[in-house]
Amino acid sequence: MQRERVADDIYVFTSDLYVQVTAGVVVTSQGAVVIDTLAYPEETRLIKRFVETRLGTTVRYVVNTHFHADHTTGTCFFEGARVIGHAICRELLDKRGRQSLEQAKLTAPELREVSLVLPDMVFEGGMMSLHLGNKTLQFWSTPGHSPDSIVCLVKEDRTLFAADTLMPIPYFVDGSYDDFVESLNRLRNNNYENVVQGHGEIILRGEVEEKIAEDLDYLYKLRAAVDMALVEAAPDKALEAISIEQCGKSRILLNGAAPQLHRHNVLALASARREPAQL
Ligand SMILES: [Zn+2]
Repeated sequence: MQRERVADDIYVFTSDLYVQVTAGVVVTSQGAVVIDTLAYPEETRLIKRFVETRLGTTVRYVVNTHFHADHTTGTCFFEGARVIGHAICRELLDKRGRQSLEQAKLTAPELREVSLVLPDMVFEGGMMSLHLGNKTLQFWSTPGHSPDSIVCLVKEDRTLFAADTLMPIPYFVDGSYDDFVESLNRLRNNNYENVVQGHGEIILRGEVEEKIAEDLDYLYKLRAAVDMALVEAAPDKALEAISIEQCGKSRILLNGAAPQLHRHNVLALASARREPAQL
């Protein structure tokens, strides 16, 4: 696990074990806020130990940016902390998260100590703020990667935890293409000091706008390619031929996991674009 300090009071942890998933810690004068946990208990435990022994404070809140297991599995290790998430996150964790955790436990012994914890502080609308000590955290809804996705801005430092709304390659299979485009557009021109992606490297001030533009470009190129493929004589073959490179992304992203995510994107978008024609 890598640890980086992105501001005086903000730390980011990046997993070595699962596709560069990230977690954050914001330290305030009245305790710490953990933004997402890591996929494996051993890594989340290291974060907890770092906060308690190295920073000498306790975790008051855990934020679930969305229900996916690689971000939420470690919530249970912060006993006594309140858990913040979107109302839809609570619903999805309760249904799909509970089920997939039980299944995962059958093949991954290291997950047997994990128990499901649901967010107890949820917001339904677009936005919520948390005032803790000397810090203000603003959360807002950014559906697209998943319907429950949120981002978190530490206002005083202008650090944005974008979660999976920004990752090396946009991934919308559990969410919606159109929502993703809208959520990305809403992240533009906000003068962030740095942006923490849900997976992969931290994006620095001067690179944020370019990164968002690149992700939108990928999504537009992907949609154009899928639409062209769907009118070919053999659409399935044409869909299969849509490469990640022609949509402007590299296959080495995310330690080589990017082409697989791209393939899932192609199929998900194709089925969404086919639907209206079938009506
Ligand atoms: Zn995710």
